[in-house]
Amino acid sequence: MSIDSKEYFSEELHEECGVFGIYGNDSLAPAYACYNGLLALQHRGQESCGIAVNDRGVISGHKNMGLVSEVFSNEVLDSLTGQMAIAHVRYSTAGGSVRENSQPLVMRYVKGTLAIAHNGNLTNAYEVRKELEMRGAIFQTTIDSEAIAYLIARERVNSASVEEAVERTMRQLEGAYSLLVMSPQKLIAARDPHGFRPLCMGRLGESIIFASESCALAACGAEFVRDIEPGEIVVVDDEGVHSITSQMSGNKKKSLCVFEYIYFARTDSEIDGISVYKSRKEAGRILAREFPVEADIVIGVPESGIDAAIGYSEESGIPYEKGIVKNGYIGRTFIKPTQKERAKSVKLKLNPLRSVLEGKRVVVIDDSIVRGTTCDRIVKMLRDAGAKEVHLRISSPPFIWPCFYGTDIPSRGELIAVKHTIDEICELTGADSLGFLPPDKLGDMLFGQNTGFCDACFSGNYPTRIPEKMLSGKERGGVDFGKKLPPKKKADASCLGKDEN
Ligand code: AMP
Repeated sequence: MSIDSKEYFSEELHEECGVFGIYGNDSLAPAYACYNGLLALQHRGQESCGIAVNDRGVISGHKNMGLVSEVFSNEVLDSLTGQMAIAHVRYSTAGGSVRENSQPLVMRYVKGTLAIAHNGNLTNAYEVRKELEMRGAIFQTTIDSEAIAYLIARERVNSASVEEAVERTMRQLEGAYSLLVMSPQKLIAARDPHGFRPLCMGRLGESIIFASESCALAACGAEFVRDIEPGEIVVVDDEGVHSITSQMSGNKKKSLCVFEYIYFARTDSEIDGISVYKSRKEAGRILAREFPVEADIVIGVPESGIDAAIGYSEESGIPYEKGIVKNGYIGRTFIKPTQKERAKSVKLKLNPLRSVLEGKRVVVIDDSIVRGTTCDRIVKMLRDAGAKEVHLRISSPPFIWPCFYGTDIPSRGELIAVKHTIDEICELTGADSLGFLPPDKLGDMLFGQNTGFCDACFSGNYPTRIPEKMLSGKERGGVDFGKKLPPKKKADASCLGKDEN
Protein backbone atom coordinates (compact mmCIF):
# COMPACT_ATOMS: atom_id res chain seq x y z
CA MET A 1 0.00 0.00 0.00
CA SER A 2 1.88 3.02 -1.28
CA ILE A 3 0.82 6.37 0.09
CA ASP A 4 1.45 9.89 -1.07
CA SER A 5 2.95 12.45 1.24
CA LYS A 6 -0.27 14.46 1.60
CA GLU A 7 -2.11 11.42 2.84
CA TYR A 8 0.77 10.29 4.97
CA PHE A 9 1.09 13.52 6.89
CA SER A 10 -2.59 13.86 7.56
CA GLU A 11 -3.32 13.55 11.25
CA GLU A 12 -5.29 10.37 10.70
CA LEU A 13 -2.09 8.41 10.99
CA HIS A 14 -1.51 9.23 14.60
CA GLU A 15 -1.59 6.45 17.09
CA GLU A 16 -1.64 5.82 20.78
CA CYS A 17 -0.96 2.25 21.73
CA GLY A 18 -0.02 -0.25 24.36
CA VAL A 19 2.27 -3.28 24.03
CA PHE A 20 2.63 -6.46 26.06
CA GLY A 21 4.84 -9.52 25.66
CA ILE A 22 5.72 -12.67 27.58
CA TYR A 23 8.45 -15.29 27.27
CA GLY A 24 7.68 -18.56 29.07
CA ASN A 25 4.54 -20.47 29.93
CA ASP A 26 5.26 -22.04 33.29
CA SER A 27 2.69 -20.02 35.31
CA LEU A 28 0.19 -18.74 32.77
CA ALA A 29 -0.47 -19.59 29.12
CA PRO A 30 1.05 -16.72 27.09
CA ALA A 31 -2.20 -15.92 25.29
CA TYR A 32 -4.05 -15.59 28.62
CA ALA A 33 -1.23 -13.48 30.08
CA CYS A 34 -1.51 -11.21 27.03
CA TYR A 35 -5.28 -11.04 27.42
CA ASN A 36 -4.94 -9.91 31.05
CA GLY A 37 -2.19 -7.48 30.12
CA LEU A 38 -4.21 -5.98 27.26
CA LEU A 39 -7.26 -5.53 29.48
CA ALA A 40 -5.06 -3.48 31.83
CA LEU A 41 -3.72 -1.47 28.89
CA GLN A 42 -7.10 -0.91 27.24
CA HIS A 43 -7.00 2.80 28.16
CA ARG A 44 -4.06 3.16 25.73
CA GLY A 45 -6.11 2.07 22.74
CA GLN A 46 -9.68 0.99 22.20
CA GLU A 47 -9.87 0.63 18.49
CA SER A 48 -8.19 -2.65 17.69
CA CYS A 49 -6.12 -5.27 19.45
CA GLY A 50 -4.24 -8.47 18.76
CA ILE A 51 -2.11 -11.29 20.10
CA ALA A 52 0.63 -13.21 18.23
CA VAL A 53 1.89 -16.46 19.75
CA ASN A 54 5.00 -18.46 19.06
CA ASP A 55 4.60 -22.22 19.24
CA ARG A 56 8.03 -23.82 18.88
CA GLY A 57 9.11 -21.33 16.25
CA VAL A 58 5.80 -21.10 14.39
CA ILE A 59 4.18 -17.70 14.81
CA SER A 60 0.44 -17.20 14.39
CA GLY A 61 -2.08 -14.77 15.80
CA HIS A 62 -5.49 -13.23 16.06
CA LYS A 63 -6.39 -9.55 15.81
CA ASN A 64 -9.42 -7.46 15.01
CA MET A 65 -11.15 -4.13 15.46
CA GLY A 66 -12.78 -3.72 18.85
CA LEU A 67 -12.14 -3.93 22.57
CA VAL A 68 -10.04 -6.71 24.07
CA SER A 69 -13.12 -8.36 25.62
CA GLU A 70 -14.90 -8.27 22.24
CA VAL A 71 -12.04 -9.59 20.11
CA PHE A 72 -10.95 -12.50 22.33
CA SER A 73 -13.17 -15.34 23.54
CA ASN A 74 -11.98 -18.37 25.55
CA GLU A 75 -12.18 -20.38 22.37
CA VAL A 76 -9.84 -18.00 20.53
CA LEU A 77 -7.42 -17.80 23.45
CA ASP A 78 -7.35 -21.60 23.81
CA SER A 79 -6.42 -21.90 20.15
CA LEU A 80 -3.44 -19.56 20.62
CA THR A 81 -1.00 -22.02 22.12
CA GLY A 82 2.69 -21.27 22.49
CA GLN A 83 5.69 -20.59 24.67
CA MET A 84 5.86 -16.85 24.10
CA ALA A 85 3.59 -14.12 22.77
CA ILE A 86 3.32 -10.41 22.04
CA ALA A 87 0.20 -8.28 22.03
CA HIS A 88 -1.04 -4.82 21.20
CA VAL A 89 -3.92 -2.38 21.71
CA ARG A 90 -4.29 0.46 19.26
CA TYR A 91 -6.08 3.75 18.99
CA SER A 92 -5.93 6.00 15.96
CA THR A 93 -8.32 8.66 14.74
CA ALA A 94 -11.01 7.77 12.19
CA GLY A 95 -9.13 7.61 8.88
CA GLY A 96 -6.46 5.10 9.92
CA SER A 97 -9.02 2.86 11.51
CA VAL A 98 -8.77 -0.30 9.43
CA ARG A 99 -8.08 -3.90 10.31
CA GLU A 100 -4.81 -4.10 8.32
CA ASN A 101 -3.35 -1.44 10.58
CA SER A 102 -3.97 -3.46 13.73
CA GLN A 103 -1.07 -5.19 15.42
CA PRO A 104 0.98 -7.27 16.10
CA LEU A 105 2.26 -7.43 12.54
CA VAL A 106 3.42 -10.87 11.51
CA MET A 107 5.87 -11.01 8.62
CA ARG A 108 7.34 -13.94 6.79
CA TYR A 109 10.77 -13.40 5.33
CA VAL A 110 13.88 -15.32 4.33
CA LYS A 111 14.92 -16.13 7.93
CA GLY A 112 11.48 -17.26 9.07
CA THR A 113 8.73 -15.32 10.80
CA LEU A 114 8.85 -12.11 12.76
CA ALA A 115 6.13 -10.45 14.80
CA ILE A 116 6.27 -6.87 16.01
CA ALA A 117 4.19 -4.64 18.26
CA HIS A 118 4.99 -0.96 18.48
CA ASN A 119 3.94 2.11 20.47
CA GLY A 120 4.94 5.61 19.38
CA ASN A 121 5.35 7.56 16.19
CA LEU A 122 8.48 7.74 14.09
CA THR A 123 9.35 11.21 12.85
CA ASN A 124 11.20 9.87 9.79
CA ALA A 125 8.74 7.10 8.89
CA TYR A 126 7.83 8.68 5.59
CA GLU A 127 11.48 8.96 4.55
CA VAL A 128 12.16 5.37 5.62
CA ARG A 129 9.12 4.09 3.75
CA LYS A 130 9.92 6.04 0.62
CA GLU A 131 13.48 4.73 0.64
CA LEU A 132 12.22 1.15 1.03
CA GLU A 133 9.56 1.62 -1.65
CA MET A 134 12.14 2.96 -4.07
CA ARG A 135 13.98 -0.33 -3.61
CA GLY A 136 10.89 -2.35 -4.40
CA ALA A 137 9.25 -2.83 -1.01
CA ILE A 138 5.48 -3.23 -1.01
CA PHE A 139 3.58 -2.20 2.09
CA GLN A 140 0.26 -3.63 3.21
CA THR A 141 -0.52 -1.09 5.90
CA THR A 142 -0.11 2.64 6.51
CA ILE A 143 1.50 2.28 9.95
CA ASP A 144 5.07 3.09 10.97
CA SER A 145 5.43 -0.36 12.48
CA GLU A 146 5.50 -2.02 9.09
CA ALA A 147 8.48 0.07 8.04
CA ILE A 148 10.26 -0.97 11.24
CA ALA A 149 9.45 -4.63 10.57
CA TYR A 150 10.71 -4.29 7.02
CA LEU A 151 13.98 -2.73 8.17
CA ILE A 152 14.53 -5.45 10.77
CA ALA A 153 13.91 -8.14 8.14
CA ARG A 154 16.34 -6.44 5.74
CA GLU A 155 19.02 -5.98 8.40
CA ARG A 156 18.59 -9.54 9.63
CA VAL A 157 19.95 -10.90 6.38
CA ASN A 158 23.33 -9.27 7.09
CA SER A 159 23.35 -9.65 10.86
CA ALA A 160 24.52 -12.47 13.10
CA SER A 161 21.39 -12.29 15.27
CA VAL A 162 17.96 -10.73 15.33
CA GLU A 163 19.03 -8.39 18.18
CA GLU A 164 21.85 -7.12 16.00
CA ALA A 165 19.27 -6.49 13.26
CA VAL A 166 17.12 -4.57 15.77
CA GLU A 167 20.12 -2.51 16.80
CA ARG A 168 21.02 -1.71 13.18
CA THR A 169 17.39 -0.77 12.56
CA MET A 170 17.39 1.59 15.52
CA ARG A 171 20.25 3.51 13.90
CA GLN A 172 17.87 4.34 11.03
CA LEU A 173 14.86 5.35 13.08
CA GLU A 174 14.02 8.76 14.47
CA GLY A 175 11.22 9.54 16.89
CA ALA A 176 9.30 7.48 19.38
CA TYR A 177 9.15 3.72 19.65
CA SER A 178 8.69 1.21 22.39
CA LEU A 179 8.97 -2.00 20.51
CA LEU A 180 8.43 -5.72 21.03
CA VAL A 181 9.87 -8.11 18.46
CA MET A 182 9.27 -11.87 18.48
CA SER A 183 11.43 -14.13 16.34
CA PRO A 184 11.17 -17.91 16.22
CA GLN A 185 13.57 -18.20 19.20
CA LYS A 186 13.59 -14.85 20.98
CA LEU A 187 11.54 -12.11 22.53
CA ILE A 188 13.13 -8.66 22.24
CA ALA A 189 12.10 -5.37 23.84
CA ALA A 190 13.58 -2.06 22.67
CA ARG A 191 12.99 1.55 23.66
CA ASP A 192 14.03 4.50 21.52
CA PRO A 193 17.13 6.42 22.66
CA HIS A 194 15.02 9.29 23.98
CA GLY A 195 12.64 6.98 25.84
CA PHE A 196 9.57 8.88 24.63
CA ARG A 197 7.15 6.08 25.45
CA PRO A 198 7.27 3.90 28.55
CA LEU A 199 8.27 0.24 28.60
CA CYS A 200 8.94 -1.96 31.61
CA MET A 201 9.92 -5.52 32.47
CA GLY A 202 8.41 -7.90 35.00
CA ARG A 203 8.72 -11.50 36.14
CA LEU A 204 6.04 -14.12 36.69
CA GLY A 205 7.63 -17.31 38.02
CA GLU A 206 10.21 -18.16 35.37
CA SER A 207 8.49 -16.08 32.70
CA ILE A 208 9.69 -12.64 31.64
CA ILE A 209 7.11 -9.99 30.74
CA PHE A 210 7.38 -6.65 28.96
CA ALA A 211 4.61 -4.07 29.08
CA SER A 212 3.92 -0.43 28.27
CA GLU A 213 2.89 0.15 31.86
CA SER A 214 3.43 -1.57 35.17
CA CYS A 215 -0.35 -1.87 35.76
CA ALA A 216 -0.32 -4.62 33.10
CA LEU A 217 2.26 -6.60 35.09
CA ALA A 218 0.07 -6.40 38.17
CA ALA A 219 -2.91 -7.63 36.12
CA CYS A 220 -1.04 -10.91 35.50
CA GLY A 221 0.21 -11.27 39.05
CA ALA A 222 3.76 -10.50 37.86
CA GLU A 223 6.29 -8.52 39.86
CA PHE A 224 7.87 -5.37 38.50
CA VAL A 225 11.58 -5.80 37.73
CA ARG A 226 12.61 -2.50 36.12
CA ASP A 227 11.99 -0.01 33.32
CA ILE A 228 13.73 -0.57 29.99
CA GLU A 229 16.27 2.21 29.61
CA PRO A 230 16.14 4.63 26.67
CA GLY A 231 18.19 3.11 23.86
CA GLU A 232 18.23 -0.32 25.52
CA ILE A 233 17.51 -3.63 23.81
CA VAL A 234 16.61 -6.52 26.11
CA VAL A 235 16.74 -10.03 24.68
CA VAL A 236 15.09 -13.09 26.22
CA ASP A 237 15.84 -16.58 24.92
CA ASP A 238 16.56 -20.04 26.31
CA GLU A 239 19.84 -18.75 27.72
CA GLY A 240 18.09 -16.11 29.84
CA VAL A 241 17.84 -12.32 29.72
CA HIS A 242 20.57 -10.07 28.40
CA SER A 243 20.77 -6.41 27.53
CA ILE A 244 22.45 -4.41 24.77
CA THR A 245 22.71 -0.65 24.53
CA SER A 246 22.01 0.80 21.12
CA GLN A 247 24.88 2.75 19.59
CA MET A 248 22.40 5.53 19.01
CA SER A 249 21.69 6.24 22.66
CA GLY A 250 25.01 7.96 23.52
CA ASN A 251 24.24 11.67 23.27
CA LYS A 252 20.46 11.64 23.38
CA LYS A 253 18.53 13.55 26.00
CA LYS A 254 16.02 11.43 27.88
CA SER A 255 12.58 12.68 26.84
CA LEU A 256 9.79 10.63 28.35
CA CYS A 257 6.43 12.12 27.30
CA VAL A 258 5.22 14.17 30.26
CA PHE A 259 1.64 13.70 29.08
CA GLU A 260 1.95 10.04 30.11
CA TYR A 261 1.86 11.28 33.71
CA ILE A 262 -0.76 13.97 33.11
CA TYR A 263 -3.32 11.95 31.23
CA PHE A 264 -2.30 8.96 29.27
CA ALA A 265 -1.03 6.31 31.70
CA ARG A 266 -3.18 4.53 34.24
CA THR A 267 -3.05 6.02 37.70
CA ASP A 268 -1.76 2.79 39.30
CA SER A 269 1.28 2.61 37.00
CA GLU A 270 4.80 3.65 37.84
CA ILE A 271 6.86 5.01 34.98
CA ASP A 272 10.60 5.46 35.16
CA GLY A 273 10.46 5.31 38.94
CA ILE A 274 7.66 7.86 39.41
CA SER A 275 4.11 6.98 40.48
CA VAL A 276 1.54 8.35 38.04
CA TYR A 277 -0.93 8.83 40.90
CA LYS A 278 1.54 10.79 43.00
CA SER A 279 2.57 13.03 40.10
CA ARG A 280 -1.08 13.86 39.35
CA LYS A 281 -1.72 14.62 43.01
CA GLU A 282 1.37 16.82 43.06
CA ALA A 283 0.05 18.73 40.03
CA GLY A 284 -3.10 19.41 42.07
CA ARG A 285 -1.01 20.65 45.00
CA ILE A 286 0.89 22.99 42.69
CA LEU A 287 -2.39 24.32 41.28
CA ALA A 288 -3.63 24.99 44.81
CA ARG A 289 -0.50 27.02 45.57
CA GLU A 290 -0.43 28.86 42.24
CA PHE A 291 -4.14 29.50 41.89
CA PRO A 292 -5.81 29.56 45.31
CA VAL A 293 -9.47 30.47 45.56
CA GLU A 294 -12.12 30.54 48.26
CA ALA A 295 -14.45 27.63 47.64
CA ASP A 296 -16.60 25.03 49.40
CA ILE A 297 -15.60 21.86 47.57
CA VAL A 298 -13.01 20.49 45.12
CA ILE A 299 -14.08 17.96 42.50
CA GLY A 300 -12.25 16.18 39.68
CA VAL A 301 -13.37 15.34 36.15
CA PRO A 302 -13.18 11.53 36.03
CA GLU A 303 -10.79 9.81 35.66
CA SER A 304 -7.53 11.70 35.30
CA GLY A 305 -8.75 14.92 36.99
CA ILE A 306 -9.57 13.10 40.22
CA ASP A 307 -6.03 12.56 41.52
CA ALA A 308 -5.17 16.22 40.97
CA ALA A 309 -8.39 17.23 42.74
CA ILE A 310 -7.34 15.17 45.78
CA GLY A 311 -3.97 16.97 45.73
CA TYR A 312 -5.64 20.39 45.43
CA SER A 313 -7.92 19.54 48.34
CA GLU A 314 -5.04 18.34 50.56
CA GLU A 315 -2.98 21.44 49.87
CA SER A 316 -5.82 23.96 50.17
CA GLY A 317 -7.79 22.34 52.98
CA ILE A 318 -10.99 22.60 50.86
CA PRO A 319 -12.92 19.30 51.16
CA TYR A 320 -12.75 16.87 48.24
CA GLU A 321 -16.11 15.66 46.96
CA LYS A 322 -17.32 13.43 44.20
CA GLY A 323 -19.19 15.93 42.03
CA ILE A 324 -19.33 14.15 38.68
CA VAL A 325 -20.13 10.51 37.97
CA LYS A 326 -18.75 8.81 34.91
CA ASN A 327 -20.47 6.14 32.88
CA GLY A 328 -17.60 3.68 32.57
CA TYR A 329 -19.08 1.93 29.54
CA ILE A 330 -18.59 4.78 27.10
CA GLY A 331 -15.28 5.16 25.26
CA ARG A 332 -13.08 8.23 25.32
CA THR A 333 -14.91 11.33 24.14
CA PHE A 334 -11.83 12.51 22.37
CA ILE A 335 -11.92 9.86 19.69
CA LYS A 336 -15.28 10.78 18.23
CA PRO A 337 -14.64 12.04 14.71
CA THR A 338 -16.73 15.19 14.65
CA GLN A 339 -17.04 18.09 17.07
CA LYS A 340 -20.81 17.58 17.31
CA GLU A 341 -20.39 13.93 18.27
CA ARG A 342 -17.70 14.83 20.80
CA ALA A 343 -19.92 17.40 22.46
CA LYS A 344 -22.81 14.94 22.64
CA SER A 345 -20.75 12.16 24.17
CA VAL A 346 -19.44 14.38 26.98
CA LYS A 347 -23.07 14.57 28.11
CA LEU A 348 -23.57 10.85 27.83
CA LYS A 349 -20.39 10.07 29.70
CA LEU A 350 -20.46 12.47 32.64
CA ASN A 351 -23.32 13.28 34.99
CA PRO A 352 -23.17 15.86 37.84
CA LEU A 353 -24.28 15.09 41.41
CA ARG A 354 -26.80 17.81 42.18
CA SER A 355 -27.01 16.94 45.89
CA VAL A 356 -23.27 17.68 46.22
CA LEU A 357 -23.09 20.75 43.98
CA GLU A 358 -26.21 22.76 44.76
CA GLY A 359 -25.39 26.20 46.17
CA LYS A 360 -21.65 25.44 46.37
CA ARG A 361 -18.57 27.33 45.24
CA VAL A 362 -16.81 24.59 43.28
CA VAL A 363 -13.19 24.10 42.21
CA VAL A 364 -13.20 21.60 39.32
CA ILE A 365 -10.03 20.02 37.98
CA ASP A 366 -9.51 18.41 34.59
CA ASP A 367 -6.20 17.16 33.21
CA SER A 368 -6.12 19.14 29.97
CA ILE A 369 -7.90 21.42 27.55
CA VAL A 370 -7.35 20.51 23.94
CA ARG A 371 -10.16 21.80 21.73
CA GLY A 372 -12.17 23.05 24.69
CA THR A 373 -15.13 20.69 24.18
CA THR A 374 -15.03 19.02 27.58
CA CYS A 375 -14.45 21.98 29.92
CA ASP A 376 -17.10 24.02 28.19
CA ARG A 377 -19.67 21.29 28.86
CA ILE A 378 -18.42 20.64 32.37
CA VAL A 379 -18.81 24.25 33.48
CA LYS A 380 -22.31 24.42 32.05
CA MET A 381 -23.21 21.07 33.56
CA LEU A 382 -22.04 22.17 37.02
CA ARG A 383 -23.95 25.43 36.84
CA ASP A 384 -27.10 23.62 35.69
CA ALA A 385 -26.70 21.34 38.70
CA GLY A 386 -26.79 24.37 40.99
CA ALA A 387 -23.11 25.28 41.52
CA LYS A 388 -22.87 28.92 42.67
CA GLU A 389 -19.33 29.47 41.38
CA VAL A 390 -17.17 27.30 39.13
CA HIS A 391 -13.38 27.68 39.29
CA LEU A 392 -11.66 25.65 36.62
CA ARG A 393 -8.14 24.33 37.22
CA ILE A 394 -6.20 22.35 34.63
CA SER A 395 -3.40 20.01 35.69
CA SER A 396 -1.35 20.62 32.54
CA PRO A 397 -0.15 23.75 30.72
CA PRO A 398 -2.09 24.92 27.64
CA PHE A 399 -1.52 22.78 24.54
CA ILE A 400 -0.04 24.97 21.86
CA TRP A 401 2.06 22.63 19.72
CA PRO A 402 1.28 19.33 18.04
CA CYS A 403 2.86 16.05 19.11
CA PHE A 404 4.86 14.00 16.60
CA TYR A 405 5.69 11.20 19.03
CA GLY A 406 2.38 9.41 19.35
CA THR A 407 0.01 11.50 21.46
CA ASP A 408 -3.04 12.40 19.46
CA ILE A 409 -3.13 16.19 19.48
CA PRO A 410 -4.98 17.83 16.61
CA SER A 411 -3.52 20.35 14.20
CA ARG A 412 -2.67 23.73 15.72
CA GLY A 413 -5.73 25.43 14.29
CA GLU A 414 -7.94 23.22 16.45
CA LEU A 415 -6.12 23.89 19.73
CA ILE A 416 -8.13 26.37 21.74
CA ALA A 417 -5.05 27.86 23.45
CA VAL A 418 -3.54 28.70 20.05
CA LYS A 419 -6.55 30.73 19.03
CA HIS A 420 -7.43 32.29 22.37
CA THR A 421 -5.80 33.91 25.36
CA ILE A 422 -6.38 32.33 28.73
CA ASP A 423 -8.77 35.16 29.62
CA GLU A 424 -10.74 34.34 26.50
CA ILE A 425 -10.78 30.61 27.25
CA CYS A 426 -12.06 31.41 30.72
CA GLU A 427 -14.78 33.53 29.22
CA LEU A 428 -15.66 30.96 26.55
CA THR A 429 -16.08 28.20 29.11
CA GLY A 430 -18.15 30.42 31.38
CA ALA A 431 -15.93 29.65 34.39
CA ASP A 432 -15.47 32.20 37.18
CA SER A 433 -11.71 31.67 37.06
CA LEU A 434 -9.25 29.49 35.20
CA GLY A 435 -5.73 28.36 36.06
CA PHE A 436 -3.40 26.07 34.09
CA LEU A 437 -0.37 24.29 35.52
CA PRO A 438 2.52 26.65 34.73
CA PRO A 439 4.92 25.04 32.19
CA ASP A 440 7.89 25.71 34.48
CA LYS A 441 6.26 23.59 37.19
CA LEU A 442 6.19 20.37 35.15
CA GLY A 443 9.51 19.33 36.67
CA ASP A 444 8.11 19.90 40.19
CA MET A 445 5.15 17.71 39.33
CA LEU A 446 7.68 14.91 38.81
CA PHE A 447 9.32 15.79 42.15
CA GLY A 448 12.44 16.97 40.33
CA GLN A 449 13.33 13.24 40.07
CA ASN A 450 12.96 12.87 36.37
CA THR A 451 16.18 13.09 34.45
CA GLY A 452 14.41 14.38 31.36
CA PHE A 453 10.99 14.60 29.81
CA CYS A 454 9.42 15.84 26.58
CA ASP A 455 7.06 18.79 26.95
CA ALA A 456 7.06 19.79 23.27
CA CYS A 457 3.25 20.02 23.10
CA PHE A 458 3.45 22.82 25.68
CA SER A 459 6.76 24.44 24.74
CA GLY A 460 7.40 23.71 21.05
CA ASN A 461 10.85 22.35 22.01
CA TYR A 462 11.06 19.11 20.08
CA PRO A 463 13.89 16.83 21.21
CA THR A 464 14.39 15.49 17.65
CA ARG A 465 14.51 16.85 14.14
CA ILE A 466 10.97 17.21 12.72
CA PRO A 467 10.87 16.90 8.93
CA GLU A 468 9.40 19.96 7.19
CA LYS A 469 6.54 17.93 5.68
CA MET A 470 5.45 16.75 9.09
CA LEU A 471 5.39 20.28 10.42
CA SER A 472 3.24 21.54 7.59
CA GLY A 473 0.93 18.53 7.94
CA LYS A 474 -0.10 19.86 11.33
CA GLU A 475 -0.43 23.44 10.20
CA ARG A 476 -4.01 23.33 9.03
CA GLY A 477 -6.61 25.66 10.49
CA GLY A 478 -5.04 28.89 9.37
CA VAL A 479 -2.24 28.94 11.89
CA ASP A 480 1.28 29.55 10.69
CA PHE A 481 3.25 26.75 12.27
CA GLY A 482 6.61 28.31 11.62
CA LYS A 483 6.14 31.31 13.84
CA LYS A 484 5.89 31.35 17.59
CA LEU A 485 2.76 33.15 18.64
CA PRO A 486 3.01 36.75 19.78
CA PRO A 487 2.96 36.99 23.57
CA LYS A 488 -0.55 36.81 24.89
CA LYS A 489 -1.87 39.46 27.18
CA LYS A 490 -1.60 38.59 30.88
CA ALA A 491 -4.59 37.17 32.67
CA ASP A 492 -6.40 39.58 34.95
CA ALA A 493 -7.24 38.92 38.59
CA SER A 494 -10.62 37.39 37.81
CA CYS A 495 -9.02 34.89 35.47
CA LEU A 496 -6.07 33.32 37.17
CA GLY A 497 -4.51 31.46 34.24
CA LYS A 498 -0.94 32.24 33.34
CA ASP A 499 0.34 32.61 29.81
CA GLU A 500 2.75 30.05 28.48
CA ASN A 501 6.24 31.34 28.01
P1 AMP B 1 -11.09 18.79 24.70
O1 AMP B 1 -12.46 18.41 25.15
O2 AMP B 1 -10.90 18.73 23.21
O3 AMP B 1 -10.63 20.10 25.27
O4 AMP B 1 -10.10 17.67 25.25
C1 AMP B 1 -9.80 17.62 26.60
C2 AMP B 1 -10.30 16.34 27.19
O5 AMP B 1 -9.87 15.22 26.42
C3 AMP B 1 -9.74 16.20 28.59
O6 AMP B 1 -10.82 15.94 29.46
C4 AMP B 1 -8.79 15.02 28.52
O7 AMP B 1 -9.03 14.12 29.59
C5 AMP B 1 -9.03 14.36 27.17
N1 AMP B 1 -7.78 14.23 26.37
C6 AMP B 1 -6.77 15.06 26.31
N2 AMP B 1 -5.82 14.63 25.46
C7 AMP B 1 -6.24 13.48 24.96
C8 AMP B 1 -5.71 12.53 24.03
N3 AMP B 1 -4.54 12.72 23.45
N4 AMP B 1 -6.43 11.44 23.75
C9 AMP B 1 -7.63 11.26 24.32
N5 AMP B 1 -8.18 12.12 25.20
C10 AMP B 1 -7.52 13.22 25.53
